[in-house]
Amino acid sequence: MTDDHDVLIIGGGPAGLSAALNLGRSLVRVLVVDADRPRNAATLNSHGFLTRDGVPPHELRKLARAELAAYPNVEIRSRVRVGSLSRTDAGFTAGIGRREPTETVSARSVLLATGLRETLPEVPNLRGFYGMSLFSCAACDAWELRGRRMALIGESGDLADRARLIARWTESLTVFTNGADVVTMAEEAELAASGVAVLRHPIAELVGERGRLEAIRLTDGTSVTVEGGFVRPEWETDLSFLDGFAPAVDGHGHLVTDRSGRTGIPGLYAAGDAAAPGPQQLIVAAGAGARVAAVIVHDTIGVATAH
Ligand SMILES: Cc1cc2nc3c(=O)[nH]c(=O)nc-3n(C[C@H](O)[C@H](O)[C@H](O)COP(=O)(O)OP(=O)(O)OC[C@H]3O[C@@H](n4cnc5c(N)ncnc54)[C@H](O)[C@@H]3O)c2cc1C
Repeated sequence: MTDDHDVLIIGGGPAGLSAALNLGRSLVRVLVVDADRPRNAATLNSHGFLTRDGVPPHELRKLARAELAAYPNVEIRSRVRVGSLSRTDAGFTAGIGRREPTETVSARSVLLATGLRETLPEVPNLRGFYGMSLFSCAACDAWELRGRRMALIGESGDLADRARLIARWTESLTVFTNGADVVTMAEEAELAASGVAVLRHPIAELVGERGRLEAIRLTDGTSVTVEGGFVRPEWETDLSFLDGFAPAVDGHGHLVTDRSGRTGIPGLYAAGDAAAPGPQQLIVAAGAGARVAAVIVHDTIGVATAH
């Protein structure tokens, strides 16, 4: 079965739903296909979204979907994945289904709003603390941890820069490289001068209960008391469902777009975490979704106005 739409939005997070709202209001026939597995599902509360500071992530989505229900030209398929996306003369066709594609839909334009896939540092039982006392976004969650004993765990080359950022919120920060050689001696000396210790042994385990971190134990037997902190995941955009074409990605795995969300492929747009260089925040993703919606409408009718 084939179902035709003007725009297919892949991903129903803040980027995709904000685009759907603005496209819907412009009389565009929109289909949102959302696997409904947002990256922030690990956390209980989201911060920094004006008028919704502290809202549970699922509540924000629920509110957005309720607003979209007022627009008959916007259809949302939840817990459904796009398993394949191909280009055609008229635009795109997508295979969609709960697990495997069972249905084909077509659209003239496609917005990739699929967010990011993240891989956490290889630390036993880290998942049990992620989103409760260990977080990845300082702007989102450092306020709640301010003044406490914090850890920063990561295995990437920007760890020292992250440490400098997180040190804004605490005078007690310990950086754990988990055995990775990612902090130079010069960086370590600079961090030490501002009271930040760097510990290089692999982590044996995180200690604590019900998601509340209490200590980090290293393989050399050292145990450091901490009350929470941050991890530095690796992020990538999952484009495995694209069939026979490949938009450009940058060195961080983000889709490359112009400032309006256009990829280099005609009719293919991207917004939110999947595209932006950051910051990775809900309100930024929602703003990007609104902007790309306006651009899609303008491109459809060939109008170049920026406002
Ligand atoms: C633990 C944690 C805590 C966070 N806390 C905050 C916070 O407090 N404040 C804040 O502003 N930000 C926070 N963030 C960041 C925030 O969640 C993201 O910046 C934001 O969700 C990005 O929105 P998005 O729409 O780009 O992607 P997402 O919200 O990730 O949504 C992408 C959607 O696309 C779907 N999808 C992916 N592939 C497919 C496919 N092939 N077919 C169909 N659907 C697909 C996914 O299942 C998902 O539902 C946090 C992130 C994490 C991990």
